[in-house]
Amino acid sequence: MTNAMSWLAPLRTSVPEIDDNGWRDLHRLADSFGVLCAPAPAPADAAAWSRWLLGLRRQLASRGHRAPAGRAGLVWQTLAQFTAGFHDLDLRDATGPGHGAMILAEGTHQAGILWGARLAAGELVGIAATERHGGSRIQEITTRATVRRDGTWRLTGEKCWVSRLIESSGYVVFFRDPDGRISAAVVDADQPRLEREVIEPFGLGGWSWGVLRLHEAPVDPATDMVGPTGDGLGVFRRHFARFRPLVTATALGTAAGVHTLVTDALATKRRVGFLPRVRDNALVVLGRAHAEITAALLAAITTSRLAADAHPHADFAARVGKAAGVDTAVRAVVDLAPLIGAAGFQRAHPVAKARADLTGLLYADGIHDSLYRSGGVSLLAKPVAPVVPIRPAIAAADRDREAA
Ligand SMILES: Cc1cc2nc3c(=O)[nH]c(=O)nc-3n(C[C@H](O)[C@H](O)[C@H](O)COP(=O)(O)OP(=O)(O)OC[C@H]3O[C@@H](n4cnc5c(N)ncnc54)[C@H](O)[C@@H]3O)c2cc1C
Repeated sequence: MTNAMSWLAPLRTSVPEIDDNGWRDLHRLADSFGVLCAPAPAPADAAAWSRWLLGLRRQLASRGHRAPAGRAGLVWQTLAQFTAGFHDLDLRDATGPGHGAMILAEGTHQAGILWGARLAAGELVGIAATERHGGSRIQEITTRATVRRDGTWRLTGEKCWVSRLIESSGYVVFFRDPDGRISAAVVDADQPRLEREVIEPFGLGGWSWGVLRLHEAPVDPATDMVGPTGDGLGVFRRHFARFRPLVTATALGTAAGVHTLVTDALATKRRVGFLPRVRDNALVVLGRAHAEITAALLAAITTSRLAADAHPHADFAARVGKAAGVDTAVRAVVDLAPLIGAAGFQRAHPVAKARADLTGLLYADGIHDSLYRSGGVSLLAKPVAPVVPIRPAIAAADRDREAA
């Protein structure tokens, strides 16, 4: 069992909300990835790769690969993301609603029905939040809605670094509503008042990426709003509390995929006599990276569970957990890469691709210094748990009292 399930199976007792059916579905998903990824085109052909990724998402949707309903759903999706990332970080939208989750959770009734059906058929929704002044300061966005006589709105502004730029069927756009408050609405990608400018990324090239310009793009506040008018920051915060552990699990899946590849390569070299023995430095890296990836994955699972319960700690855990988990994945791949030698430095090699792709996640879905910093601010503002230093003498006295 050298697929993602060999990493997940030992964690089974840590995810009691996933029942036998859920585990069977995860195995089915891992098997589908194995079969469907075999004939994938080379990622170097960006257009063919993007077409194939969207086709894969549609195929998996048509085969019914989706999270169970209810509280277990988000935890299941976390494990599914790990399974996808294990093959390639570009598979991060292979299953699940992705950013479309904002519409399902907080869209109007009409938007929920329309986009629920489109997402279930494998369509993709992007997020358009970042602007030139800096994505880490979303509260300063300038994209603006003006009111028409018929009560509908027109959005004008420019969003940059938008992923899934061409492949998306719609975008959740963050903007200033006519009262100047930040709101969110879904904009159909088909409508003509959008202009897209594709930019070539350093990694994470699976989906197209670049600038989205809105030239008086129509929005009907009666049907297109995502979340209450004026609560765009709340929508953003609640979404990323759920979304960031999924991103983290995908990155850790990619690191686990590299780990498995390197381990198999070393084992093969030893078996065929290429290596008389595997040196200690390689063994130490294998052991440490495995432990760190597993620990970070367990933290991501816990964060998803907190998010599913709308726990007050979820947003904090998602912010610092995304930064720490993706940092763990990056460090693991950087440490593992040399063990495979110069072969892994070829641009087309999966290890080289994983390294380049993971660097994109240092920015996307929250730039790390900002996430750690805002985590620190939260800790100072309102301690997440009462800070009571444990002093051995007091602990011993308590123990004696309890025993009495
Ligand atoms: C691969 C990729 C995919 C992405 N996909 C999307 C997407 O789909 N949709 C979307 O909306 N965005 C997307 N982004 C944008 C991403 O969310 C932003 O890159 C991120 O939010 C950081 O914003 P920024 O790059 O504008 O950097 P900035 O916000 O400009 O930050 C740059 C640096 O400046 C620091 N900084 C901020 N304020 C100060 C200050 N006052 N003093 C000193 N330093 C400061 C930050 O901490 C950071 O270190 C994507 C980015 C990448 C790389």
